Amino acid sequence: MKQHEVDRHNNMSTQLGMPRGTAANRLRKMVLFDILKRHNENVCVRCKKEIKSVEELSIEHIKPWEHEDTALFWDLTNIGFSHLRCNCAAARRTNVGKPSCKRIESPEGKSWCRTHKDFLPVENFSKHNQPWNGLRRDCRECEKKYKDFHRYGE
Ligand SMILES: [Zn+2]
Ligand SMILES: [Zn+2]
Repeated sequence: MKQHEVDRHNNMSTQLGMPRGTAANRLRKMVLFDILKRHNENVCVRCKKEIKSVEELSIEHIKPWEHEDTALFWDLTNIGFSHLRCNCAAARRTNVGKPSCKRIESPEGKSWCRTHKDFLPVENFSKHNQPWNGLRRDCRECEKKYKDFHRYGE
């Protein structure tokens, strides 16, 4: 970005009292909520009750797409609206004791390596303050490969 564009961006953020990207996302969600309300579709897919405010609105995938099927991510019929609390409560049920909104169901003692695309023993992962299990998303081996790759790339 050119300097005057950066300045303009900063001015907008100052005027909005938040980063412009955050404001744009918030606005998009408000527009969506308004349309849902007009269509009487502001109903939670989980508890079937009305979603009364945009703050409560959560947009979720009904069938989890992660580790499963990328098409499910883009499938609009797989999109549901729910209360944030219902969505998080459902995520918590599948992830007992871990207060996180992420739905990761790993077999006991294993964690998902996003590069291997497989569950590997937790010992293969470095610790990291990642929200749901405190481990890195990639196993040590993949992490190392990634680092080596970037080192050679310099
Ligand atoms: Zn609900
Ligand atoms: Zn790996």
